[in-house]
Amino acid sequence: MGKSESGTNLRGVSRITSGVPATDGAGVHMTRMIGTSEIDQIDPFLLLDVFQTENPDDYIAGFPAHPHRGFETVTYMFAGKMRHKDNAGNEGVIEAGGVQWMTAGRGIVHSEMPEQEDGLMWGTQLWVNLPKTEKMTAPAYQEFVADQLPTETQSEGVEVAVIAGETTQGTEGAVTGRPTRPIYLDVRLQGERTFAESVPSTFNAFILVIEGSISVASTEIEAGNMAILGDGDAVEVSGLGENNRFLLIAGQAINEPIARGGPFVMNTQDEVRQAFADYQSGNF
Ligand code: FE
Repeated sequence: MGKSESGTNLRGVSRITSGVPATDGAGVHMTRMIGTSEIDQIDPFLLLDVFQTENPDDYIAGFPAHPHRGFETVTYMFAGKMRHKDNAGNEGVIEAGGVQWMTAGRGIVHSEMPEQEDGLMWGTQLWVNLPKTEKMTAPAYQEFVADQLPTETQSEGVEVAVIAGETTQGTEGAVTGRPTRPIYLDVRLQGERTFAESVPSTFNAFILVIEGSISVASTEIEAGNMAILGDGDAVEVSGLGENNRFLLIAGQAINEPIARGGPFVMNTQDEVRQAFADYQSGNF
């Protein structure tokens, strides 16, 4: 932690990871950043996958119909196209700059399939946990194309797309009112400019570098890496490359027991077994 001029406590970097290779869906190759033996979770974030490949064999099989219960999935695309379809009647294609925010709640069955046969597929999926009281809520789905995301010019050369949460300057994100009050910002820094944002001290926070390289409290982080931030109530990020881009993601920790069972994340193993039973008996 460092003291900034405004008297806030700046978060440092507590850990950097480049993730581990993973295969999911019907054979999609990706890098898993959260939800690994190394980093089990960053409460309330249960999983973070990054897929970035020009080889269709790595993504073409996609994620055919599968269920979820107990949390939210957030898909954000940097390049390529992905089609979402679910049994609640929602369907949509997102491409670069588009986001899908799906609340699985008590149960949803969806597919996530590439809408392209070749070319670069690049994006990320985050799982946001729900507190016990919200795990069995009704499923919901929100989708935004790039143009629909609120943007903010924090200062010259510091551009922020606000996917979720509200910035210090008051820009309200596309997604608000979620139980863990998530902050999800896509920040572009030209050259060595500096971005600053307050993040409540009770939130866990991390940064995923998308392009270029950045520095947080004198720690350098390059594209493709995730930095878990330490304690504090503000974040300052400076650019190191010519064009730098990163995601700042933070949320209120839930501090409840977690029981994972593949596509279901509940509080107890009994609830996971119930989820499998409900899905198998067609009650999703
Ligand atoms: Fe899914």
